[in-house]
Amino acid sequence: MNLVLMGLPGAGKGTQADKIVAKYEIPHISTGDMFRAAIKDSTELGLKAKSFMDKGELVPDEVTIGIVRERLGKDDCYKGFLLDGFPRTVAQADALENILGDLDKKMDFVINIEVDQDILMERLTGRRICKDCGATYHLVFNPPKEEGVCDRCGGELYQRADDNAETVQNRLEVNMKQTKPLLDFYSEKGYLRNINGQQDINKVFADIDELLGGLPR
Ligand SMILES: [Zn+2]
Repeated sequence: MNLVLMGLPGAGKGTQADKIVAKYEIPHISTGDMFRAAIKDSTELGLKAKSFMDKGELVPDEVTIGIVRERLGKDDCYKGFLLDGFPRTVAQADALENILGDLDKKMDFVINIEVDQDILMERLTGRRICKDCGATYHLVFNPPKEEGVCDRCGGELYQRADDNAETVQNRLEVNMKQTKPLLDFYSEKGYLRNINGQQDINKVFADIDELLGGLPR
């Protein structure tokens, strides 16, 4: 079961990744975790990646791809994997095809959790945080009893600068622009499966589960 998980910020990727991993017992491989592990193990590529990160530079593709290759070749991927955060570009997606070919594996599905932009905006801009105790609320999903006031300590609630409409909109647009060619690439390959992410969390997972249930295990 070799999978890539895609979705815009706020689409609920993390929640669904947890559910997929728990049920199908495949490793959840996020780019961040992969880098951290390679650096912690002081692998040659890990050290190379670290030297770029320490300088605040982007890790070049060849290093990232090398780390992915090492990770997917590990024993715990024998039943499959759930890649998250990689690939980000068509060049990386091409490289991933080569890696899988070399490892005698093939991609099963690229699961794309789809949510309309206005709903993502609502999800991503609704967060409020207590100035005093740090408790988090959401205007829609977890509202405080009294508007603008923390239930726990009576503190004032505020919106992080990252969460304001303009910043969020920008982030979404950059993300959409970045993922569009990737979605086209995977659609052409026949791997892409769009999942409606505007449903209840359990229904979203039920749809993914139905898709994966048909794969040999
Ligand atoms: Zn509080």
